[in-house]
Amino acid sequence: MSGSAAKWIAGVWLGTQLWVAPASAFDLVFTGGEILTMDESRPRAEALAVEDGRIAALGSEAELRARAGNAEFVDLEGGVLMPGLIEPHCHPVGTAVLGQAADISGFRYDTRAQVMEALREAVAAGSPDEWVIAYGWDPVLVEDLDPPTLAELDALAPDRPLLVLTQMMHIAYLNSAGYRAAGIDEDTPDPPGASAFLRDARGRLNGVIYETEALAQVLDAMPPPPEGGVELLFSWQLADYARAGYTTLGITGPVSREEDPIRPIKAVVDDPTSPVRAFVYLRPEQLDPERSPVGTGGPRFAVKGVKFWMDGSPYAGGAAFSEPYRNTPLTLERIGLGRDHRGEPNYSVEEFVDLVAPYHERGYQIAVHAQGEVAIDRVLDAFEIVLREKPRADHRHRMEHNAAITREQLVRARALGLTPSFFIDHVYFYGHALPDLVGGSRAERFMPMAWARDTGHRVTLHTDNPATPIGPLRALRTAVTRVPRGASEPLGPEQRISVADGLRAMTIDAAWQLFEEQERGSLTPGKAADLVWLSENPLEVDPAELEEIRVRGTWIDGRRADLSRWRASNLWLAARALWNTVVDKLFR
Ligand SMILES: [Zn+2]
Repeated sequence: MSGSAAKWIAGVWLGTQLWVAPASAFDLVFTGGEILTMDESRPRAEALAVEDGRIAALGSEAELRARAGNAEFVDLEGGVLMPGLIEPHCHPVGTAVLGQAADISGFRYDTRAQVMEALREAVAAGSPDEWVIAYGWDPVLVEDLDPPTLAELDALAPDRPLLVLTQMMHIAYLNSAGYRAAGIDEDTPDPPGASAFLRDARGRLNGVIYETEALAQVLDAMPPPPEGGVELLFSWQLADYARAGYTTLGITGPVSREEDPIRPIKAVVDDPTSPVRAFVYLRPEQLDPERSPVGTGGPRFAVKGVKFWMDGSPYAGGAAFSEPYRNTPLTLERIGLGRDHRGEPNYSVEEFVDLVAPYHERGYQIAVHAQGEVAIDRVLDAFEIVLREKPRADHRHRMEHNAAITREQLVRARALGLTPSFFIDHVYFYGHALPDLVGGSRAERFMPMAWARDTGHRVTLHTDNPATPIGPLRALRTAVTRVPRGASEPLGPEQRISVADGLRAMTIDAAWQLFEEQERGSLTPGKAADLVWLSENPLEVDPAELEEIRVRGTWIDGRRADLSRWRASNLWLAARALWNTVVDKLFR
């Protein structure tokens, strides 16, 4: 390039810069640490400037200081500034509501005796006419946790309705007072499909509520929380995500009993002081194409698509694996499966084509829960038909969890334009038990993130809470090391991915999966200033110690997340909930 041409280009470039960003216009400048952009064209920088909620410039500290004017400076104290983390698959309303239930999880207790004592304490607390709800019964993590009998539940709570939810929510246990309160007796028919109120050999209800439709019938019978109460819990929950480093959530199937299931979520997230953004995939019965056509929403809250379930949980016998579950004390006694049990997919290929085609044609993104190879085959077969009949470019339909997906299935998914998200916590929390469920060699290829990357996918990872606790750095560490909890050796080391790949999975690739890559996922001038400040650089710490990295703060649209419990909008929600409780007590 000749000198004059270079000068001319530089002149135009500078002119553009001056026009877009006058010299003294920065609002916020980050210095004193490292900027990790996740933008391949410029992976690192010394300083970053924000203006009007957008990333305005990256450069050396001297360069940005010279242009900073009256900007506020944030000293990163030797830490790292990155794009805010993105959780592509979680259930924050569920996490918020279940956070109110008694915690009996295997994340907290080690023995059946401890779990039963926690239940006893939960029954003793609270008023005698209220439901007792306990969450987290987990026979895979708690090694002597045989299922509770109806007699045991009745002895624990002779008069109060008691509902015990398992960790993966696919099975629940109910006492006799609970059946009475829910209006379920021996003559109550099972809901359509695989769901059921299980019975003993003599046809009497045995305390087991099997799968979601039956559980929904029980939950529907409970008194609703006061209006505003769920929103307050949800709003508090969002602060927990921000504390963990997230700035964006993908909500896959929100739980709300309101007539308009979107309203409570939208009201909280759309508030400019909400600490995270949220993009939702509604259950089909919740998605009204008239009310929420494709593109409904804005930069803080939007409806992205619809969520389906092709099979169930590996830990409740619901995953449609290509081989039967192994016959072990874990599967036969603790989970209570029959010999050579097989999980069944929820739909035939034809049924699934009919279900998803209308949403595909309308332009929604479709997300499908699929764990076992048989379920995954059905999803692939169905989308092959749908896409042949109604081709659609760049649909990014999503496959969720993908525990046992094979390399061949990943190749097929890539060819169809489907994108996988992995529930990597299975390897961490359940890795020790997987050989007893599915055998050693299949356990090694559980959640095969390296295969997904090698077959050309943009890989993402999620924690699906409340299924497992919020913890992006734990998930990253597991994707990188594949060392299960309590173990010293990796499970399936060939499926490990690099820290750099893991970070992409939680930032730019997750943004792409949510159709948000133009606005976020990397620190690129012009994108929204969604940021997380970490105490150390994940690329430079020992991978085993990734979870020790501290989150120092998050920003969305250049505004630091306010994590105080009683920020103004929360006070308003609390007042409304209180008011409605009072009105309820006085007039009903
Ligand atoms: Zn989920």
